Amino acid sequence: MRRMKSIIAGLSTLVLLAGCIGPGGNRSEYVIVIDAGHGGHDSGASCGGKKEKDLVLQITKKLYKEFKSEGYKVYVTRGGDSFLKLGERTRIADHKDAKVFISIHANAIGNKSRFEEVEGVETYFLQKTRDERSQRIAARENASVLQGTDQLSQDVIIDAVLNGPKIIESHKLAIDVQQNMIKNLNGRYKDVKNGGVKPGPFYILVGASRPSILIEVGYLTNSKERERLFTSRYQEEIAEGIVSGVNRYLDNKKREME
Ligand SMILES: [Zn+2]
Repeated sequence: MRRMKSIIAGLSTLVLLAGCIGPGGNRSEYVIVIDAGHGGHDSGASCGGKKEKDLVLQITKKLYKEFKSEGYKVYVTRGGDSFLKLGERTRIADHKDAKVFISIHANAIGNKSRFEEVEGVETYFLQKTRDERSQRIAARENASVLQGTDQLSQDVIIDAVLNGPKIIESHKLAIDVQQNMIKNLNGRYKDVKNGGVKPGPFYILVGASRPSILIEVGYLTNSKERERLFTSRYQEEIAEGIVSGVNRYLDNKKREME
């Protein structure tokens, strides 16, 4: 009898453990908002006849499906080729009380002679930076959303959110997502370059008052990367990597709160 009891106790411990280390429990309590950058009259970067606005919409659709299959509640800021203002993009994240806000973009450089040498995946979180390269990328991404806003107002907007707890959480989220994206991509494409996690003054990340990141999935100016980015397979790897990263971030957060 005692042996029976200890077997039952052992089994219930196993069940409990399985509950702890399982796939994160009930994902449906989490809302994710995905923002496909640009849209409509704003094509974003373009090169070789390919446009950033189209690529990020394709990836967003894959990401939507992937998050759904994990059980999350998912919303997208745009599901078609439409332009949204800055406030409209982040308002949905606040309105839906999202746990995480992810903005998808693709990169480009201006110097033609370096097109084939600059490549890779980068994840940004909101932070001022002295790094000129990050500033340049942010300026390009900010151009359309900041139309009509003067420099002083821009500084006020960004200062209002810096140093808050959101920045620390966004940084953690960025690390988990970047690591998992690279791990996933490198499984099939060994030469994908890890551009790392970086701070940047991206205004799309200012408005949503929750952990928010901006992913530059690759360089449209690099022919190898551009070709891969528009394949379904590559997009799947990116989407799966992002979802694994978010799973990991939320699981760690849950553990910290227990
Ligand atoms: Zn962009």
